[in-house]
Amino acid sequence: MSNPDPECVFCRIVSGEIPSNRLYEDDRVIAFHDIAPAAPVHFLVIPREHIPTADDVREEHADLIAHMYLTCTKLAREQDLVQPGYRIVMNVNEGGGQTCWHIHFHVLGGRTLTVMG
Ligand code: 5GP
Ligand code: ZN
Repeated sequence: MSNPDPECVFCRIVSGEIPSNRLYEDDRVIAFHDIAPAAPVHFLVIPREHIPTADDVREEHADLIAHMYLTCTKLAREQDLVQPGYRIVMNVNEGGGQTCWHIHFHVLGGRTLTVMG
């Protein structure tokens, strides 16, 4: 992992210092179940690299972001979410609902999801 932030909860999950219920991991990403699920299936896909917000993503991260996204869709298929459907979300900054400062896709499914507010 490059540039871990010792104050960052998700960097501490990457290192294993904070335990998590992992669905998947490889050399670039980790997926784990959300501690406070907002749907019957709710997991997060994060990079091992510490990137604070989506606004910090640069061209050099393009392959990593694509890999995060494809990990979301692969796991959604494995979790049988494709029909009737599911949601992939990334919250950006306080006004967008972000509370953990290490980028992550939320994947939510297993119930009918209403329009976001
Ligand atoms: P955000 O609000 O930043 O978009 O999403 C952060 C998510 O991380 C929340 O849904 C929250 O429940 C989850 N979360 C925060 N701390 C932990 C933790 O220590 N373990 C797990 N598994 N999820 C966490
Ligand atoms: Zn971090």
